[in-house]
Amino acid sequence: MQADDLKSLICIAHSLWADSAEAISSLAEVLSVVATGDFPTEIEVEKTAKALYFRILHQGTSINAQSISQPFFRLTVEQRFILSSLHLARWSYVRIGRILDIEERLIPEIAWTTRLSLTLVPGVDFNSVHPTGTHHLAVNCPEYQKENPWTQKFLDDEFPKNQKIFLQNHSISCKTCQESLTRCRTLYYSVDGLLPRPENTEEKIKLLNHIYLKIQKLQHPLQQSFLDSLRIFSERPKIRWIFALSCIFFVYFVRKNKGM
Ligand SMILES: [Zn+2]
Repeated sequence: MQADDLKSLICIAHSLWADSAEAISSLAEVLSVVATGDFPTEIEVEKTAKALYFRILHQGTSINAQSISQPFFRLTVEQRFILSSLHLARWSYVRIGRILDIEERLIPEIAWTTRLSLTLVPGVDFNSVHPTGTHHLAVNCPEYQKENPWTQKFLDDEFPKNQKIFLQNHSISCKTCQESLTRCRTLYYSVDGLLPRPENTEEKIKLLNHIYLKIQKLQHPLQQSFLDSLRIFSERPKIRWIFALSCIFFVYFVRKNKGM
């Protein structure tokens, strides 16, 4: 599994479990089970994320009771999963829908409701900006749907490249759309600041990768590299003795020949 995939899974785990040790041990356990299957990497990542999601659902809300003071951990498991998948893993609506068994069209609607709900949390500064659109649209303005605005879709990077370029250019020339996008961007980055970010990610990636590779090697012993096989072979005590004796004989043989 690639380091980027492991990093995304670490972020997802930390959005489900407030306790870092709990998040990593859950992820390690799930990953070691998923790695025993013979799935393509993309499927492995999705199976791991899904298993984490159902694991925390099974454990219930009391698991994060001590972190209830954090606005993010007052959200539902589904809301936390969707936000961290969008902001930290940068997964698409399609992929998140596939993992959670939710229709793709509902993902942005849930994300929007969740993001807006965080503006109502006391003590959270959202610069008093409510990300609204406008009904005063010019002919070439994109339609603003209040349950699923184009501004959010733009920031979640869900538009095809040509539409994205159109919207970028349009927002430069259209003051109304520019304002809608600016308000949404303020909301987006305010929400982003509330998401938990795991510490020592590189170390965690190394640990998980080590576990993953060990399971893979147990599953596919013939896929060990030549150097790995040689190292394991040379570490056997009998082989070490034979090697040491061979060296002594070799030195003796060379000296004897020189003496002649
Ligand atoms: Zn416009």
